[in-house]
Amino acid sequence: MAIKSLSDLLAQGVEGRGVLVRSDLNVPLDNGIIGDPGRIIASVPTIKALSDAGAKVVVTAHLGRPKGEPDPEFSLAPVAVALGEQLGRHVQLAGDVVGTDALARAEGLTDGDVLLLENIRFDPRETSKDDAERLALAEALVALVADPGGNPAAFVSDGFGVVHRKQASVYDVATLLPHYAGALVATEVEVLKALTSSTERPYAVVLGGSKVSDKLAVIENLATKADSIVIGGGMCYTFLAAQGLSVGTSLCQPEMIETCAKLLEDYGDVIHLPVDIVVTEKFAADSPPETVAADKIPDGKMGLDIGPESVKRFTALLSNAKTVFWNGPMGVFEFPAYAAGTKGVAEAIIGATAKGAFSVVGGGDSAAAVRQLGLPEDGFSHISTGGGASLEYLEGKELPGISILEQ
Ligand code: ADP
Ligand code: MG
Repeated sequence: MAIKSLSDLLAQGVEGRGVLVRSDLNVPLDNGIIGDPGRIIASVPTIKALSDAGAKVVVTAHLGRPKGEPDPEFSLAPVAVALGEQLGRHVQLAGDVVGTDALARAEGLTDGDVLLLENIRFDPRETSKDDAERLALAEALVALVADPGGNPAAFVSDGFGVVHRKQASVYDVATLLPHYAGALVATEVEVLKALTSSTERPYAVVLGGSKVSDKLAVIENLATKADSIVIGGGMCYTFLAAQGLSVGTSLCQPEMIETCAKLLEDYGDVIHLPVDIVVTEKFAADSPPETVAADKIPDGKMGLDIGPESVKRFTALLSNAKTVFWNGPMGVFEFPAYAAGTKGVAEAIIGATAKGAFSVVGGGDSAAAVRQLGLPEDGFSHISTGGGASLEYLEGKELPGISILEQ
């Protein structure tokens, strides 16, 4: 069955109806200060449309990785404030997830009100592997939007960053309520579909970030589809090690070296690695940078960025691409001295986009890098809010939070 959209729900009329929305509000927080509000901003259109139409909106979301119990460090309190500012209306925060406070507040909602539940991951059932446990939490969530008068409730799935997770607030609630894809999820799915179905060549994929193990499956899958896969970031060192080079104290996953060697053997003509690296002594913003050839990384030093010659070569590959997918920064862009690689590659993608390429950026940190480095967000065709979810989609995996919406 085709996925029903937010407009389908709005067309029915939602005035006075309880609507549960799963959003992705997982923003970087430092001492209660929101670093990059991108995900909050991306969540606003769906919540606003429902609130404006008079629904009683109950939003559920997670923040970070609390250990299945309340932890003030991971409270959504700062997010409730920021969401309220973006929406232009007060957002209540429940003191618990599905407890007495949440229930009392949900019962007190009037048309157009927005209630944010406390971090859903304070409840261990959210991520439980036990179907019955997850279902019990989903039932408690549904109870918050149920109307004793019989006005039908609905579920809107809008947390694209979590649709690859079979979790209570993502998957199980959709088995209990009429369900709809929110505006964000609908856009994301449409873009990813375009990326996998009608890909114009040359198709270039840029991969970076910290963990090679997370991204090997996508390399394997894309190696047969893309014309070039450019690899930088923390993951390139395992590949360099697979070529027999020494990588000093750079990030490296020894257990993955063999797999990387096999990938290089099978797809050596598609995979491109950096030829120079910016190294330093320790992982610190003020540790002085030094550029070396990729096969001359000194013992005791770590690579924190790709070098200028690599940026030049990657730019040449990207400049004539017609389709580009980018996930993962090329270096530790959070430290200004190690941001040039990420910035250079991003600018190359922006250049290709200006010449008509279709470009997609996926990944929380990659999206944050675009904004933090002062690059124009509209220089890309689409900036995805979900790194893991978009990678799994491109790997050809089924996303439980999407397939349940089709039923
Ligand atoms: P995304 O969220 O875009 O999918 P990841 O989470 O995989 O990206 O990785 C982002 C992180 O990778 C950034 O915080 C960045 O500092 C880090 N990173 C990039 N290059 C390196 C490197 N050479 N060494 C260590 N960390 C790196
Ligand atoms: Mg990340």
